[in-house]
Amino acid sequence: MYRIGEEEIEEIRRVIVGKKLFRLGDPAAGHQQEVDRFEREWADLIGARYALCLSGGGTAALVSCLAALGIGPGDEVLVPAYTWMATATAALTVGAIPVICEVDETLALDPDDVEHKLTPETRAVLPVHMVGRPANLERLLEIARRNNLKLVEDASQADGGSYKGKRLGSWGDMGAFSFNDFKILSCGEGGALVTDDRILYDRARIFHDSLTSFPTFGQEFAVPTFVGHQYRANEIMGAILRVQLRRLDGILADLRRIGRRMIDALQDAPNLRIAPSNDPDGDCHVVVAFQFDSEEAARRFARCEGVGGGLPIDTGRHVYSNWETVLEHRVGHHPDMNPYHHPKNKGLRTHYSKDMCPRTLDLLSRTVYINLNPDWPDDEVDHRIEACRNAATRL
Ligand SMILES: *Cc1c(COP(=O)(O)O)cnc(C)c1O
Repeated sequence: MYRIGEEEIEEIRRVIVGKKLFRLGDPAAGHQQEVDRFEREWADLIGARYALCLSGGGTAALVSCLAALGIGPGDEVLVPAYTWMATATAALTVGAIPVICEVDETLALDPDDVEHKLTPETRAVLPVHMVGRPANLERLLEIARRNNLKLVEDASQADGGSYKGKRLGSWGDMGAFSFNDFKILSCGEGGALVTDDRILYDRARIFHDSLTSFPTFGQEFAVPTFVGHQYRANEIMGAILRVQLRRLDGILADLRRIGRRMIDALQDAPNLRIAPSNDPDGDCHVVVAFQFDSEEAARRFARCEGVGGGLPIDTGRHVYSNWETVLEHRVGHHPDMNPYHHPKNKGLRTHYSKDMCPRTLDLLSRTVYINLNPDWPDDEVDHRIEACRNAATRL
């Protein structure tokens, strides 16, 4: 969360005073339709036909996307080795098997490894736009189309970012976003999904609220209902998110201004290499990423006075080698509901090891991130630039 304040408080106040906190209600009776309006505004902003807001976060959004697409036992889902573990667990939650793929030097899913790991059982590919950096969607989409795969974007860390001028999340069959406290937009927890497909939207809506609430208020579906989960958003979330959405382009403009200023100042500095990006203009610039020749150099740089850097290899469950529950097949509350025990998943690639993606581990241990803050004044940015230049000179 970058920016939150009086505007959100005012909107929450309005919802509470109105005493209508459930997302569904009759506008004629004073219901404020905050979630409905947020969904309309989010769909418009991302450039998708439909958006669904969920209380269960980006994880619930990913699970609902896969459920909408009918993915389940017998299916493999390709996920990057560098992502928050939820990308992989979402596949398991619907009964499918995540196949872990390398990232390339852009730190996003490597299209070459995707092609290499495809089998006839592969049903979907889940690129993740980590730290706001777009994955290579052009190539991944081409591979997906050619092999009849579904493409679901995990844009949880890239709310509002874009690739080649089109917002992240709008490229694939479906896109998922998170609004938990660590993301570009926040209401504490929560998420959204988008799609252009009416059937997928309806299946996701049914899955996210399988009792489908009150049939009187707009709950008409193009497909039969089925039992799913309960991830309904509430009006307080909707109200906060509508204000957050209005802040988004300002947050991104400031992050990008600061990111570009640092990159322009440092790209020719000795011993410093800016990590390549699939689209520097679409990058949210949550971080500036540097790559070094060795982990030792990366650590020395990150530690230097004033740099304030961190290595992605140290970010716990963002690195597949720390996904113990997945690696050890500990899934679900009951052994018979563990997808690794499902007969249809028997022939699939369920064997993992901590060193199965050496290139990813190597890249993540030679990379340093500097987290940016959109509210840094110019002199703070200049201090960082100086600190980075000095640190690099001493490498
Ligand atoms: C945050 C995040 C999610 C979803 O997290 P929630 O806590 O469920 O909102 C999914 N994928 C990635 C890459 C994330 O960073």
